[in-house]
Amino acid sequence: MVFDDFKGFAVTLKRLTRDPVTIEYPDVKRDMSNRFRGLPALRSDPQTGEALCVACGLCARICPTSCLEMHVVPSEEGDRELGEFILRAGRCLNCGMCAQVCPVDAIAMSKEYELAVQDRAGLIFTKTELAQIGSQTDDWWSS
Ligand code: SF4
Ligand code: SF4
Repeated sequence: MVFDDFKGFAVTLKRLTRDPVTIEYPDVKRDMSNRFRGLPALRSDPQTGEALCVACGLCARICPTSCLEMHVVPSEEGDRELGEFILRAGRCLNCGMCAQVCPVDAIAMSKEYELAVQDRAGLIFTKTELAQIGSQTDDWWSS
């Protein structure tokens, strides 16, 4: 019994000299790996700031939970362009299929994971919000 106590103290003393494995979240946050799949986000051309999305609709089609909603509108050149783009993050599985299928890497998996909200409406992200998150997101698929 006393021997077991000493064994326990020995383990504690050994641990005292090591770096802690825990961090003080949310003040300290871990760096996520390159392929971490957070919230899908819309990327823009870093030179012009224009959205890369060509409104092909592939991401919305492949999404297994139908949480992407796209509105396509006629462009000034008589072509078509992206109107609104909605992500219902409450249904998103973070599977990354939308990012994999996008032909122009316009949608990428960001490192955003702090999504807790009081109201479900807070889990609906618009094109502007997704573009804002996407502006800090690299080309996820090739990294
Ligand atoms: S990550 Fe998966 S579930 Fe989420 S929007 Fe993309 S395809 Fe849909
Ligand atoms: S994000 Fe990519 S896959 Fe989705 S509509 Fe735009 S270009 Fe197509």
